[in-house]
Amino acid sequence: MARALAKSTVERFRKRLEEERAHLEAQIADYEREIEEARMTEASSDRSPDPGNPEASSVKLEYAKELSIEQNSVDLLGKVRHALMRIEAGTYGTCESCGKPIPVERLDALPYATFCVECAARAS
Ligand SMILES: [Zn+2]
Repeated sequence: MARALAKSTVERFRKRLEEERAHLEAQIADYEREIEEARMTEASSDRSPDPGNPEASSVKLEYAKELSIEQNSVDLLGKVRHALMRIEAGTYGTCESCGKPIPVERLDALPYATFCVECAARAS
């Protein structure tokens, strides 16, 4: 049976994950505001009489970039939330695939990791 992480170690990761969650939520709110602004700028430039307006295409590019950054943050937030749920469930620190303990060094680097290195490599 996998050796469970010490309670103090889990608490340390919980704190890091909660901070990460707060940070990501704030970041996503920011992106959503920026995307909304870009959308409005884009909508107004669509009505512009000059279709070759370089300003409009750079806005479109900026908008796409923001969207993809936002998507990354949303993905990461999902992982962070999932890890916090596993802390609640008492399964944090064990691989979701093989059930082996995830090395603390890996959790230090990626507190939201829920697969051991081997299983993560197999899944990708
Ligand atoms: Zn595994």
